[in-house]
This record gives sequence, structure tokens and C-alpha cells, in this order.
Amino acid sequence: MILWNDRLIPRNEASVDIEDRGYQFGDGIYEVIRVYGGKAFYLTEHLNRLEKSAREIRLPLPWDFGLLAERINQLVDANRLVEGTIYLQVTRGRAPRNHAFPEKTEPVLVAYTTEVPRPEAMLKEGIRTCTHRDIRWLRCDIKSLNLLGAVLAKQEAVEKGCKEAILVRDGTVTEGSSSNVFIVRDGTLYTHPANNLILHGITRSIVLKCAGDEGIPVKEETFSVDDLYAADEAFITGTMVEVCPVIRVDDRKIGDGVPGPVTRRLQKAFDGQIAHQCGQMDGIMGERR
Ligand code: PMP
Repeated sequence: MILWNDRLIPRNEASVDIEDRGYQFGDGIYEVIRVYGGKAFYLTEHLNRLEKSAREIRLPLPWDFGLLAERINQLVDANRLVEGTIYLQVTRGRAPRNHAFPEKTEPVLVAYTTEVPRPEAMLKEGIRTCTHRDIRWLRCDIKSLNLLGAVLAKQEAVEKGCKEAILVRDGTVTEGSSSNVFIVRDGTLYTHPANNLILHGITRSIVLKCAGDEGIPVKEETFSVDDLYAADEAFITGTMVEVCPVIRVDDRKIGDGVPGPVTRRLQKAFDGQIAHQCGQMDGIMGERR
């Protein structure tokens, strides 16, 4: 089943109009929400961000958000999803092709679920990454359907045998192609400030809160590629990758080339958040605790 505007319908009953503005212009917004133990993780925060993205692109959303949350939970239940994701997108709807907004818009909302296990090996062993010029636009804080800058960067990373592209704008590390980037230097956590150049990740904010709880000093400040190369530890955060250690950037080893102790503490704290919200008592890092 999928969610189509405010109704659950079978997937094969849904169709996209060839003049849907999301299809033609990328004129729309989206969210990816994780489901653990059959429960949507930080659903309210994702819906709040969707609302913010909609406001920024001047897309009026006609749905009651309480009801939308209820429908999303019904979708998870209808598909008996235990571990996976909910993809939710809203486009400005169909209209004869013209860049300017149509006079009357009827937004189209689609949400569907996918079974996805937690990325266990990546979380334990860490990942290789490479740097890539950040060629995206100047409103990366909007979770827009326009993802070509990220797509091209990720593809190059994959072709180099890496799991993520770390984006660099004017010598500064902004974020990953689909994640936020953190480094640890002398015990302090650094990450790019939440401005227009990055997506304000939900996982990023959970990790910042966890760091506060753990007494780990945090600086939301920019850092350079050289700072990243020289960091004691590095990790990326995201709905899909959780808190994932970075053990290599380009041809450089980060720290000792294995996940560091601050990263491990934050992974453990993040598991605690999952347990707290979704009732999963055995975090992925369980056996090492
Ligand atoms: N930055 C970008 C560019 C992303 O696409 C994502 C993934 N949605 C993130 C950061 C991480 O955001 P979140 O923690 O909300 O998934």
C-alpha cells in the first residue's frame, strides 16, 4: 500500500501525470523517515522539516499534520514494516509546463515504505569517503527534489569505491552528498553551522543533543579539508547511515584508520535514542558494549 494524498491505496493504482511539476522541474520536497521495530523514528521532526521546506518554496500544504502523522503510521502498519524507511514527497502538482507557479495548485503527496536493514557493517567498521566539489545551489537547507548535484557527487564516490562524497565549497567542508559531516579534534566535536549551505539533518541535531548529554564539547563551525584530513576522528550522520565512522578521506587515513572513541560513544547514545523511541533494546553496537 502507498499513501496518496490522504488515502491508502494499492501501489499499482497510483500514476504520475507527465506534467507533474515534480517530474518536470523537481518542484517539490521530500523526507526519508526511518522505521525501527515498526515505529517511525523522530516522525514529528521530519514532518516539521517538511513543513519548513514547503514554506520556503511557497508550496501550501492542505493536509492536517496530525492526520498526516496518523496516516503515515497506518501505512507502516498496513505494510507490516518492521525495519525500513518511509519515503514521503510532495510536488506542486500538475499544470501545463511553465516555470512560474500555476494559478491553482493541487499538491500531490506520495509516501511508500521499503524494507531496509540497519547498515551494520558500515557502522562497525566505518567507511571510505572522497572529497568532491560542492556544485549544488545556495538553498541546501531546503529538502528539495532537485538532487543532481548530490547524485553526480555520489556516483563519482561509488566509482572510486567510496560510500560517500564529502562536499567542499571554497575550501570548506559543507556536508556529505546525503549526510552531515562531523570531525573530532582534541576532544571537541566540529560540524558545519546550520545555515543555507547544508541540510539541517535530523540525525545531526540528535547527535548534537547526545553530545551535550555526554559532556562532549561542540562547535558548530566550518572546517577545511585539511582539518578533516588531520582530524582525530570523523563521522557522517543521516537517517540511513545513522552515526557512521569515516576511516578514510581520499588517500588519507583518519586518525588510526579505525572508528574512534568519541564516535563510538555517540553511536551508543544514538542507539539509546532508538531504544527510547522505538523500544529496540539491542542496539546495533550491542555485542561490543
Ligand atoms: N545532508 C544531506 C544533503 C542529505 O541528503 C541528508 C539525508 N537526508 C542529510 C544531510 C542527513 O539528514 P537526516 O539526518 O535528516 O537524514
